[in-house]
Amino acid sequence: LTNRILLGMLAGILLGSLLNLIGHGSAVDGTLRTIIDEWLVGGVFDVIGRIFVASLKLLVVPLVFVSLVCGSSSLGDSARMGPIAGKTLLFYLATTAIAVTVALVVAVFIGPGSSVQLDSSAAFVATEPPPLKEVLVNIFPANPIKAMADGEMLQIIVFALLFGYALSRAGDAGRRMATYFSDLEVVVMKMVGVLMAFAPWGVFALLARLFAEMGLGAILDLGAYFLTVLGVLIFHGTVTYGLILKTFTGLPPKVMLKKMRSVWAFAFSTASSGATLPITLRTVEKKLGVHNSVAGFTIPLGATINMDGTAIMQGVATVFIAQVYGFDLSMTAYITVILTATLASVGTAAVPGVGLITLAMVLEQAGLPVEGIALIIGVDRLLDMVRTMVNVTGDATASVVVARSEGQFDEEVFYDPDADAHPE
Ligand code: ASP
Repeated sequence: LTNRILLGMLAGILLGSLLNLIGHGSAVDGTLRTIIDEWLVGGVFDVIGRIFVASLKLLVVPLVFVSLVCGSSSLGDSARMGPIAGKTLLFYLATTAIAVTVALVVAVFIGPGSSVQLDSSAAFVATEPPPLKEVLVNIFPANPIKAMADGEMLQIIVFALLFGYALSRAGDAGRRMATYFSDLEVVVMKMVGVLMAFAPWGVFALLARLFAEMGLGAILDLGAYFLTVLGVLIFHGTVTYGLILKTFTGLPPKVMLKKMRSVWAFAFSTASSGATLPITLRTVEKKLGVHNSVAGFTIPLGATINMDGTAIMQGVATVFIAQVYGFDLSMTAYITVILTATLASVGTAAVPGVGLITLAMVLEQAGLPVEGIALIIGVDRLLDMVRTMVNVTGDATASVVVARSEGQFDEEVFYDPDADAHPE
């Protein structure tokens, strides 16, 4: 199945790029253009792609809730929840800070914006970020049903933890409920598996449409910026996480990265850690051997607050914009960028393109012109797809590291190349 998904991905990219090329040629006009633009790209591909993303999102709330209730109730010793949460948070914040620091250093070294001319027509209106106080209060749901209806991940996590904790202390009633929830988890996981069988087509349609519509010309103009972000993303996604995995668990990074391939295909084609969440969770539990007491917590939390890839883009973008506008960043400004980009990653929603919006916050704190964002919008979509892959890899790495340190890890599953080979 993984190979079929990767094949769908490749076919989508190739066909989309071909249609993109054809679209720019003058030979295609009239009826043929209508067929390509409106029927194929804006019609069939759009419909299939959107149905695919909707069906992934459909699974997020039930899966997160059920998995987390099962996990927290099965921990037995609920006192472990504290250390698990502490380690996870520490991991997420520390790796994000590392990510943005590396991005800053590399960007300063390469200087991607030093030869770019300032385009005075650049315009970008920043949206006001909510005050920190509100963000904190909003983690606690006043109405769990509303939280689920709105897909408020942190609120759902809080409610599920409370529910699971209560289950483990509710005697017979709790035990009966816990059996019910673990059956429910099997069923919801099966739904993820069923959906994965359609993934090759979904991924194909999404990518064919994206590449057909993407303006690739901007990539040439912003080549240095694009390649710097891409290079740091690849470095962080493979070398940094690989080193962390090896150091803290002794497990071979290669095995893990290989098992992440289908998650990457989903992340790349949807550019949303949120929509990829069902696949990340399933992969981490069934292929990497993390027990759901840890995965059920780390993965949804990570999808919501851990965005190393986004922080990398923000680090490089800050240096790039400073260079284009001719600003010299002081040491204090760099430290401010590291802190705000780490916080911005917490506040970035797990959907396409939001990293660019929270970049406004980082630029403002560093005293740089927010309208500079307009300079990089043109190449952001493709980078968004790649940084989402890094974001989900970070979540999976954290999950394995924390699970291993808590003894909630199955090494046999991790090393088994055929684990979860037939999800459907
Ligand atoms: N698309 C990213 C994600 O969902 C967020 C971003 O950087 O815009 O992980």
